Amino acid sequence: MNTNRTATGENPICFQHYRDLPREMFAESIPVPTASPSLIELNKNLLRQLGIDASWFNSEQALSILSGSSINDDNRPIALAYSGHQFGHWSPTLGDGRAHMLGQVKTAEGKYLDFQLKGSGRSQFSRGGDGRATLGSVMREYLLSEAMAGLGIATTRSIAMLATGDSVAREQLNPGAILVRSAQSHLRVGSFQFANAQAANTRSFQSQPVTSGVKALADFTIAKHFPELEQSTSKYLDLLSAVGKRQAELIAEWMLVGFIHGVMNTDNVSIVGETIDFGPCAFMDEFSPKKVFSSIDTQGRYAWDQQPAIAQWNLTRLAETLLSLFDEDQEKSIELAQQCLSEFMPQFQKAYQSGLTQKFGFPDSNEQTKQLTSEFLAAMARNGVDFTVFFSSLTQVAEGESDQVVINLFEDSDVVTALIKQWQELRAKDNETLSSMRQANPAVIARNHQVQFAIDAAVENNDFLPFRRLCRVLANPYQIDPADEDLMTPPKFEERVTQTFCGT
Ligand code: AMP
Ligand code: MG
Repeated sequence: MNTNRTATGENPICFQHYRDLPREMFAESIPVPTASPSLIELNKNLLRQLGIDASWFNSEQALSILSGSSINDDNRPIALAYSGHQFGHWSPTLGDGRAHMLGQVKTAEGKYLDFQLKGSGRSQFSRGGDGRATLGSVMREYLLSEAMAGLGIATTRSIAMLATGDSVAREQLNPGAILVRSAQSHLRVGSFQFANAQAANTRSFQSQPVTSGVKALADFTIAKHFPELEQSTSKYLDLLSAVGKRQAELIAEWMLVGFIHGVMNTDNVSIVGETIDFGPCAFMDEFSPKKVFSSIDTQGRYAWDQQPAIAQWNLTRLAETLLSLFDEDQEKSIELAQQCLSEFMPQFQKAYQSGLTQKFGFPDSNEQTKQLTSEFLAAMARNGVDFTVFFSSLTQVAEGESDQVVINLFEDSDVVTALIKQWQELRAKDNETLSSMRQANPAVIARNHQVQFAIDAAVENNDFLPFRRLCRVLANPYQIDPADEDLMTPPKFEERVTQTFCGT
């Protein structure tokens, strides 16, 4: 059956690049049909930006394919295999336990994007899980990924959200849903760990060394995502370096908007540097460097200020899988890897400091501005000042409002008055700096209590208006209409949502 052509446009998901990978890297996997699927949300703006005709997505055929009720026989879905260190513990066989890779679309720019279903039923990687996702967790990922995109931060995107009509049993029964998400790639650090573990298994059974699946995976990754490295004589080391650079910049961007990913396990680290797998992630309200939201992160492993060190730890796990490709001499390989990994923290610091410089409106970064920045952050933490409100208030002062707008946020007014005075002396006062400050300091973020409010309205009352409003406002978080200013407000004490859950 060729299901590609319909009266309402053509199915754009018509490539399946991952089939070029070694056979052990994926499994044939057919989504499991659901009771009475319906399309809840279609990201028409994104499809338009990508140059993809949205009409197909409203067709019966699209509903059937995106809900897992039928497949495109010309382009059969697969589940990807990967391993991972989860909270530091090695899990050899994870993989897409509740996701199906439908394939890739080609955008108007000529780039290929993965389209994947999440919550589409069991696969051979499901272990004890049901392969399903709750409406709440799908709405969360939809909102948070689109909020990241609105902030200009690399992320997987949400294309559509479907209700399944089935219930999903967690602590209680929840409505089920499926997310259709896009990504430049779904390869993770955990994909390389899986390939490496497979190669190690095979090696132990054979006297001859086998061609490493890691090499095939690295070659695939370079060809698809880092083509500029193709001609390099040290391309595998350059790959590690490029992944590290993207991670350093990504983590800096997260931290500069107060984002805490929550589950930075190696299986949730995208090889192309996109934010991926939005589980118990959150934006913090009041600034607190040790902030953790995830209910299962009891040790604070993935706290806001731990994210750079964890990213470097994850990169080290990636380096281990690539070692044999760096040099024939193992000692030399280790030396090269260590040298490459040592670049991570300076790269992170550079990106983070340059972001802070922009947020504060300084002309450049020097010892004085760094000192003042850390004193401000320390005072914010001591006074429980809202991170986002602080920086948008500072922008208002730079626009000509009184210093008092910032001073009023702190209980400790003597300290902040002195800091603001120093800031006024050090900051640049030209229009360019002001517009750059506006670009660095969002007025709105996806606040936990508002995300929860939108989810509750949908789950309890089938009311998707708060969700749609949040999506609209978060798509453009640096400019806000007066009618939406209530979304800038931090939660009242009784509205605070202090814990988030994996929502699996
Ligand atoms: P996550 O913490 O969502 O990144 O998932 C970690 C691993 O658990 C991945 O291999 C997922 O595919 C798998 N997983 C999570 N939830 C489920 C579920 N409901 N059913 C099957 N597998 C799942
Ligand atoms: Mg994951």
